[in-house]
Amino acid sequence: MKKKGHSTSFQPAGAKPEGEGLLEGLVVAGSRGMYHVQPDVGALGCSIRGRLRKRLVRATGAGGRGRVQRVRVKEHDPVAIGDRVRVLVMGAGTSSIEEVLPRTSGALARRDPDAGRGELTTLVSLDQLVAVFAARAPEPHLGLLDRLLVLAEQQDLVAIVCINKVDLGLEPELQRRLRLCEGLGYPVLWTSSATGSGITVLRERLAGKVSAFAGPSGVGKSSLLNALLPQRDERTGVMSSATQKGRHTTTGARLFPLAGGGAIADTPGFRAFALASIDPDGLDRCFREFQTYLGQCTHTDCGQLREPDCAVQAALRSGAIDAGRYRSYRRLRGELSGLLKA
Ligand code: GDP
Repeated sequence: MKKKGHSTSFQPAGAKPEGEGLLEGLVVAGSRGMYHVQPDVGALGCSIRGRLRKRLVRATGAGGRGRVQRVRVKEHDPVAIGDRVRVLVMGAGTSSIEEVLPRTSGALARRDPDAGRGELTTLVSLDQLVAVFAARAPEPHLGLLDRLLVLAEQQDLVAIVCINKVDLGLEPELQRRLRLCEGLGYPVLWTSSATGSGITVLRERLAGKVSAFAGPSGVGKSSLLNALLPQRDERTGVMSSATQKGRHTTTGARLFPLAGGGAIADTPGFRAFALASIDPDGLDRCFREFQTYLGQCTHTDCGQLREPDCAVQAALRSGAIDAGRYRSYRRLRGELSGLLKA
């Protein structure tokens, strides 16, 4: 279910062969024409080569075949955080992204308030998703945990559950649900950014990987990031290359490279994370414990909702499938069906 990668390039007339003289780096922040690119050494505020942002609308039919009729700005930003890009360095604030290298793995999308119902991909080339919840304060919302696990399944991301604030104690019901997660193959880590417990194990899990931290506000994501990345600068300022005035402080997702390789992304606005556009009928494959039962029903398009002889519902009644997990399935399925109708 992984999204396919893409590569976009633009070669200016009379330019050197592709890639020559360009500096390669990682997009760590920014959107919509202004980005913060981190090469192996230093940092660059970058604009983007105009043609990468534009879609050429060509005439069709006799006579006009192939001729460019109109130029439109692409609906979706061709550059996302996590992209590796090649940059033409031309001086302070005037560097430009010339080429976007192919994306490698999973992506997370966030709804863009300016783009109507469309999805905006904000983080790409991710390896894993770390779902952060607090043991207490705020009480963990297990429906949100299931939503994040589905997102990870959709994108073929390794999902890790991180329970922070363990110094505050753990409710038996939470422990039961987390044992269930472990039984399904999702690693569960126990941390306290207050006491430092579990941080070393978390660091080991993140080494060499590009990981997104997601979870409700107040669970301690920033505190964990501070423990893992004591040098991080929360405000990644990107200079406007168009005006050379003012600093544009990014408010979206940001990527923080790790000293030994890999990077961590934080994901403000996580509530708006969109389940990628999947067919509601494909949702059952994102619930690992359903797998044994899929295809056993006599009903060919079984949605595991009200169909007679549904093997998933029988497993629910016998206790083999957890009632809370099944409720999450129903809720997410309803949400996806609603999106289709909207
Ligand atoms: P975020 O909104 O997820 O980024 O959460 P913050 O890092 O801002 O933390 C929210 C609150 O929880 C702050 O008051 C922190 O001091 C507190 N906090 C963070 N980690 C821990 C922890 O491990 N234990 C306890 N008891 N409090 C914590």
